[in-house]
Amino acid sequence: MHNPPLNQCIYCGAKPGDVAWVPKDKMTRALLLEDFGREHIVPEGLNGHEVLGKASCPKCESITSDFERVIMRDSAWALRSTIGHKSGVKLPDTAAFGYLPIYNVPAIFSGQVEHNPTFGLLPIQARREDLRQMKKKATEIRPSTFTLDKSAWFRFIAKIAHGLAVKRWGLGGFLPLLPPTILGEREDHWNYVGGCPEGLEGEGVHVIQSYGIHIHAFDQISKEGAEFALVKIRLFSNAKGLPTYQAVAGLLPGYDPLILHEMYARGFHVPAA
Ligand SMILES: [Zn+2]
Repeated sequence: MHNPPLNQCIYCGAKPGDVAWVPKDKMTRALLLEDFGREHIVPEGLNGHEVLGKASCPKCESITSDFERVIMRDSAWALRSTIGHKSGVKLPDTAAFGYLPIYNVPAIFSGQVEHNPTFGLLPIQARREDLRQMKKKATEIRPSTFTLDKSAWFRFIAKIAHGLAVKRWGLGGFLPLLPPTILGEREDHWNYVGGCPEGLEGEGVHVIQSYGIHIHAFDQISKEGAEFALVKIRLFSNAKGLPTYQAVAGLLPGYDPLILHEMYARGFHVPAA
């Protein structure tokens, strides 16, 4: 589904007329409206059809497509095959043909910044026979490295959550917390992004939506007098047993600005005031 064009970068805030780095031109120049690209909230290669128009500047587009490429080629390639993507399926040599990281809830929930959290790996398994039945023939044979770049994975989850939050609350409708993680300016993604052990149906869930095989839910959590916008994401809902993730997308209007100082003092990154 196409939404109205935003004419602004949802990651760095750049607008037409702003001077910024343009990777393909290898130069810094004033941005034109046509420089702004459309953003697939979930990548097209994972059957994502929801699009934000004119929503990414050339520099941010280059950054996000870099880690999305890692995800599409490694962590998610086997999953892509199971959903019938045309790149085909490679029959794996082992029972586990992929891994997804599983994490605790985002550290912001406890109010304590994390420095080195533990995480687990969930093997994705399928029987060779099942895979064979999905495709008439294997159309892409390539060695699987079964690699998992967990930093790329959580930036990927953060990017989906941010795009969904922009669609739901509007650009300017919340104070975004995820762009520094998405753009790779921060490595502490676990403070705002993490697992969701209770699944999509949390206590305060307002909306559950499904776009094809991906489901997400919007929620709000109250902490210290502020309302945080929460996005829960379950990719590949047609596959059993895969983890649900959640990301704290930002602060909803009406918060006391002091909360930003408190979060900052505790080590959480906050947007510059
Ligand atoms: Zn940008």
